[in-house]
Amino acid sequence: MADPKIHRQGLDPLLAGGRLTVDLRALVANWRDLAERSRPARCAAVVKANAYGLGLDHVVPALARAGCSTFFVALPEEGVTVRRLAPEAEVFVLNGIHAHSVATTAEAGLIPVLGDLSQIELWEKHCRERGIRRPCAIGVDTGMNRLGLTPEEAIAFGRRNRTDHVVVVVMVMSHLACADSPSHAMNAKQCESFQQVAAAFEGIESSLANSAGVLMGGDYLFDLTRPGIAIYGGGAVNGIENPMRPVFRLEARILQVRHAAKGETVSYGATVELKRDTKIATVSVGYGDGYPRSGSGSGVPLRAAIARGQKGYLGAQRVPLLGRVTMDLTMFDVTDVPAESLEDGWIELIGHNISLDEAAVAAGTIPYELLTGLGARYDRRYIDATGS
Ligand SMILES: *Cc1c(COP(=O)(O)O)cnc(C)c1O
Repeated sequence: MADPKIHRQGLDPLLAGGRLTVDLRALVANWRDLAERSRPARCAAVVKANAYGLGLDHVVPALARAGCSTFFVALPEEGVTVRRLAPEAEVFVLNGIHAHSVATTAEAGLIPVLGDLSQIELWEKHCRERGIRRPCAIGVDTGMNRLGLTPEEAIAFGRRNRTDHVVVVVMVMSHLACADSPSHAMNAKQCESFQQVAAAFEGIESSLANSAGVLMGGDYLFDLTRPGIAIYGGGAVNGIENPMRPVFRLEARILQVRHAAKGETVSYGATVELKRDTKIATVSVGYGDGYPRSGSGSGVPLRAAIARGQKGYLGAQRVPLLGRVTMDLTMFDVTDVPAESLEDGWIELIGHNISLDEAAVAAGTIPYELLTGLGARYDRRYIDATGS
């Protein structure tokens, strides 16, 4: 097989302090896996927040080529980008519309998920005044208390709209609050409540499942699934082995290897005192790159609750982070790493050896937040999925 093509974006690879390599082949394989698990439902892709930080420009065309024809974003401007990248696809805007976004949403051919009765009114009025009929979706709140009509409002509206055709509804959806804990009683309650709502929208597609909902399967699938994090390789369900492939690798450039004596301290606050003579690798990534300070080796409140901070990986071993993560630099203890392994010049921060899920736990957060927070200061490399 020919070597896959690599596309570059972001900072100059020779100058960047960190590099983020996204394997679009793994991304596509994850989506196909989720599509298979979603059957007989259709499988969409949630690409809000710049495809969870990995980059709309590459993620959307790769998924569209793999057969994904429905995308979800949060904001109209994200939707406009997706439309440009996948002109044939239908694009839903999860955050709905307000007075300032209704025109942009309608003109761009985006499908808003209307989140209350006033949004329905706004969409209806906008379309009527222009003599256009544009599709929309109805969002229903079954337990999040975030956005959405109440189930009662939705059922009443669904029945009325069947005869009055107030707006063109192409989908009705709700969102699970506790799907990361499959045994939580809330899941079945929401599912049941949503089944009643969906019945009032006969002949219209219904959608409930996020990534964790897809993994629960069965009654949760409805007509259309909306996985996000699992496409990007993150764990969606607590307490099970994550079945998805890792999709990206984050590496930091080693700027210097220095020697410090037993008893010396490292980084701000002098929160770690070295227990032995130590070889320290200083790398060119910090919290300014979205590598969280809360994942410091010591000297942050989280370490009282979760004893261990972040780890790096190089030379076939894991190396602990020393002291506090700083804005642009982070230090690792590489005393036990053979000199030839250091010559490679890079430490893996997240990837095949330090999973996204593990890195998130060490920073006291979830894979979603860690991933969407990875900043703009990387040499980004995309391994092409063409042909896979
Ligand atoms: C973000 C989001 C999703 C995707 O959730 P994942 O847990 O990332 O799969 C699905 N539906 C809604 C409404 C969302 O906000």
